[in-house]
Amino acid sequence: MLENYPFCPAAEDGEEQGIEKSLRPRTLDEFIGQRRVAANLQLAIEAARAREEVLDHVLLSGMPGLGKTTLSYLIAAAFGVRPILVSGPNLERGKDVVGLLTQLHRGDILFIDEIHRMSAQAEEYLYSAMEDFRVDVMLDRGPDARSVCIHLEPFTMIGATTREGLLTGPLRDRFQIVEKLEFYSDEELDQIILRSAGLLGCAIDPEASIYLAQRCRGTPRYANRFLRRIRDVAQSRAGWSSGEPLRIDLEAVSEGLDRLGVDAQGLDRIDRKILEILITHGDQPVGLKTIAVSVGEEERTLEDVYEPHLIRKGLVLKTPRGRRATSQARKLYGGRSLGDGWLNLNL
Ligand code: ADP
Repeated sequence: MLENYPFCPAAEDGEEQGIEKSLRPRTLDEFIGQRRVAANLQLAIEAARAREEVLDHVLLSGMPGLGKTTLSYLIAAAFGVRPILVSGPNLERGKDVVGLLTQLHRGDILFIDEIHRMSAQAEEYLYSAMEDFRVDVMLDRGPDARSVCIHLEPFTMIGATTREGLLTGPLRDRFQIVEKLEFYSDEELDQIILRSAGLLGCAIDPEASIYLAQRCRGTPRYANRFLRRIRDVAQSRAGWSSGEPLRIDLEAVSEGLDRLGVDAQGLDRIDRKILEILITHGDQPVGLKTIAVSVGEEERTLEDVYEPHLIRKGLVLKTPRGRRATSQARKLYGGRSLGDGWLNLNL
């Protein structure tokens, strides 16, 4: 019944998400990279299964697209269930949470995405639910008010967050397993691309795959997204006819990335706009708000999606007073037109 729960995020709808879903690894062994996290989870899963207990609550943190939802599917699959997906910002009122928790069955896996964005009121109900599998609900108001304890079936909560630092202490303390997902190496992304190409029914040349892997921001979601667009490019090129196996070569990858506006550093149009603003300000740090207004993105998106990659590439420095472009950024991008009209000279 809960599979159709109204809080299930729309992320599971649509063709794009359908394809993303089809590329998801089916077992923890198929899950490429994050070996320490995968091994820790495997151990905890096996131990819980041997004891015939539900798995302890799990907190997964890491940037968008690194595999938090995928891992929740894999954990659930190990217990023969499907995760119930809920988005943190949709959990506003206490009764949203109580309604959700009281429908859970023994062993269900409740996945709350962006758990740091849940309301404080909703969060409070989770404390006793996670710790003792019970919720206390207030009935009536005024002099007739009384608290009723509702016992819940034991369940596992998986919380996913891009900002572990924004979680309150009491909530974080209730997760017994806490794992952080890191960016993937080029070699791991190369393996993911080769696997995804196979699932999409095409073959990609080894040099084309590693070339693409180096431009995917260390993130499997980008790798899969770019690959699908590049597949379209390869398909539209002369020489391919329907029914034939599709081969993606270096030229197709290069053209595809060019069309996507992704340059040799894996930077896209917004990344370059951010750099343009920082480079124009020289040594003067620029506040997040100013950057957000200038590029037309939300501050949160800048912090979650763009900044980590720019910092990782050594192009941006984050200081208490704001962001600055590094000398490397000035060397690579200074003195050129970085916005829409940017010509990617390195591709
Ligand atoms: P998150 O929940 O962290 O935003 P997802 O779990 O939705 O990320 O992952 C995005 C996509 O990337 C998934 O559809 C999946 O196909 C792919 N993916 C993520 N991690 C891996 C991995 N380790 N191996 C293979 N594919 C992966």
